[in-house]
Amino acid sequence: MTHQILVTGGAGYIGSHVVRQLGEAGYDVVVYDNCSTGVAIAVLSGKLVVGDLADIESLYRTFAKNKFAAVLHFAASTVVAESVAQPLDYYANNTRNTLNLLRCCQTFGVKKLVFSSTAAVYGSPEESPVSESFPTIPINPYGRSKLMSEWMIQDYGLASELQYIILRYFNVAGADPAMRIGQFTPNATHLIKVACEAALGKRPSLSIFGTDFPTADGTGIRDYIHVEDLATAHIDALRYLQTGGKSRVLNCGYGHGYSVRQVIAKVKEFSGVDFPVIEAPRRLGDPACVVAASDEIRKLLGWKPQYDRLDEIVETALEWEKKLNHTKSSFKE
Ligand code: UDP
Repeated sequence: MTHQILVTGGAGYIGSHVVRQLGEAGYDVVVYDNCSTGVAIAVLSGKLVVGDLADIESLYRTFAKNKFAAVLHFAASTVVAESVAQPLDYYANNTRNTLNLLRCCQTFGVKKLVFSSTAAVYGSPEESPVSESFPTIPINPYGRSKLMSEWMIQDYGLASELQYIILRYFNVAGADPAMRIGQFTPNATHLIKVACEAALGKRPSLSIFGTDFPTADGTGIRDYIHVEDLATAHIDALRYLQTGGKSRVLNCGYGHGYSVRQVIAKVKEFSGVDFPVIEAPRRLGDPACVVAASDEIRKLLGWKPQYDRLDEIVETALEWEKKLNHTKSSFKE
């Protein structure tokens, strides 16, 4: 029996990698995406409905036309600096739109949900690795908009038959190793994408934000996770829920980290380009070290990462960036 799955934000960077894996696993997928940052050509499986979660009528119509066994909810705004400048957009697009989606789940009796959350809900953790029981004290509107969504899901879960998995992503990077899809989003701010752009001459230099952190080389440490492994965690979460698994919040990272300097060295090694690096002051609110405690997700979902090497993350990110460079026109919609 095929299971019909709704994927909001399925045309985006992470969502599109999950949709590809869902198709491969035989699921019948409906993607709901407003294509504000996502692109239709990234949807390699199922059907795309171009719609906004703020448009309740369109969302209801999509639920009414189909019979969803589960919802995977990726659609969100995700740029921290933008969330500081435009907080209400983040509360609208992330928090209120999650409420709209939960209303539809309630109305149409959908009882399984996988939600994209973020390590940003922990704020600046006092120590690493960070386990799921650490206090959630987000330090920007993006993190708060996601934490509020977590609370709504949890409260609704307590009051209904909804079972959910909330995945708190650490630093996602890389691309499909077969280079069918990757991160299309222009103006990216995340380190690995920015470094690849610098290596390919798309930007003149890379700034290191802070060289005086209490880490071995003075730069920030993060738990970089390959997008393909993150996608697999969603398939595992879905299977867990569909076989009667109970609601949980789970970190999604590898459990070890790399410094900014280590990442830069790796991008230089793979690209063969010694691009200019500028030592700049710390970014406001950037913690020194954020690494996931990841035993829970491995134990509960049986998640087995396949690409847990910085080499593979950087190699695929760089290859993808080259592909975007070479075939820019063919990526236009
Ligand atoms: N970073 C940097 N230069 C950049 C982008 C990021 O030095 O152009 C650093 C940032 O300060 C942090 C790490 O790289 O220590 C990861 O930052 P990113 O924005 O990728 O993710 P975050 O952890 O902030 O969500």
